[in-house]
Amino acid sequence: MKSVLTYNGDALTFGSKSIRLAETIGAYEGPFYLYDSQLVRERFTRLQEAFKKAKIFYAMKANSHPVLLKALASLGAGADVVSGGEVERALECGFTPRDIIFSGVGKTVAEIRRAIQLGLEQLNVESLPELERIEKIARELKTPVRVAFRVNPDVSVQTHPYIATGLAENKFGLEMGALARVHEIVARSEGWIQPVGLSLHLGSQLMEFSGLREALQRLRPVFLEMQSRYESFTKFDAGGGLGVDYEIEDPAVEERLLKEYAEVVLGETASLRADLQLEPGRWLVARAGVLVAQVQYVKQTSGRTFVILDTGMNHLIRPALYQAHHRILPLQRRGGGMRKYDVVGPICESADFMAKEREMPVVEQGDFVAISDAGAYGFSMANQYNLQRLPEERIL
Ligand SMILES: *Cc1c(COP(=O)(O)O)cnc(C)c1O
Repeated sequence: MKSVLTYNGDALTFGSKSIRLAETIGAYEGPFYLYDSQLVRERFTRLQEAFKKAKIFYAMKANSHPVLLKALASLGAGADVVSGGEVERALECGFTPRDIIFSGVGKTVAEIRRAIQLGLEQLNVESLPELERIEKIARELKTPVRVAFRVNPDVSVQTHPYIATGLAENKFGLEMGALARVHEIVARSEGWIQPVGLSLHLGSQLMEFSGLREALQRLRPVFLEMQSRYESFTKFDAGGGLGVDYEIEDPAVEERLLKEYAEVVLGETASLRADLQLEPGRWLVARAGVLVAQVQYVKQTSGRTFVILDTGMNHLIRPALYQAHHRILPLQRRGGGMRKYDVVGPICESADFMAKEREMPVVEQGDFVAISDAGAYGFSMANQYNLQRLPEERIL
């Protein structure tokens, strides 16, 4: 892997072919996301190399652009989906039903019925009432359904609290204590529920894996116990969550992180007789996208200098929602050195900021900037608040 967002002189370049971003603007009609599908391919290939035997199910909520989905499907990826809408999008983009895992805490009757009729690879169940609902629908449809149990290991990880999912206080997964009841429901289902595996997803943007190791260790005896009960029990789904460093882009550091992650997941599952599944989202696509926007005003107040963009929390909500850091880089650097800015959007909310007190190259009204690493949870979380238009999505 190499750096994908770098200056060549004072011109910002992006992507596998290092094109000058200023040349991509064309007829500017508002902020746009720009994705490099080749980068997504390269990252998928790299991840598959690190996990040779695992089946990788791309968590498509991170970015569901059809071109990226088709690229991943053609490389043999599966899809991890969390809604009926995502199921249909995945099917349109070349994933077969057996390539699709359906996760999420709120699956509706209609979603479950469709999933069973399609014969999706696996439904990852997150609660007892969901399992009961699935059992009822499978019986009605007279179609057995492959189910994996998402277990909440009650382990804390170092990430933003809104994207930690493996603590007892979180809504995700079955508590260990609920598993006895799971067995009762499976038994009374008379074969309509086929337990195929365990799943785990601890949270997103993990940069350190001791919590993951602990969770994998906690799940080990549970997996073995279940495997002794159910013949069809062979899948170990280690979820997603591998993070990217938003502050800097250093391919060597990124390689090291991937290695550590692979060592933990492979090491802790090696002795199991299991087919390993992964559900990465962010890691595959974050670096493969930028959000390009224009400076509307530079506003000086007594305390601060605000750079007001034509994009904000409506297009990229991560800074507002998670205090996330994205680098903000002018497409063409001016000679004026660095300044400290609050970079904000047009939305009528004080949470509408991209960066606060950020030291960055000087910009002026009319300048274009790129917001880095915006390929994951960018457009997929965009909204039309204030009746602002959604951003365009362009592909390199
Ligand atoms: C969001 C999600 C993922 C992907 O998480 P990333 O941090 O983007 O890798 C994987 N599995 C489940 C169940 C998820 O909800």
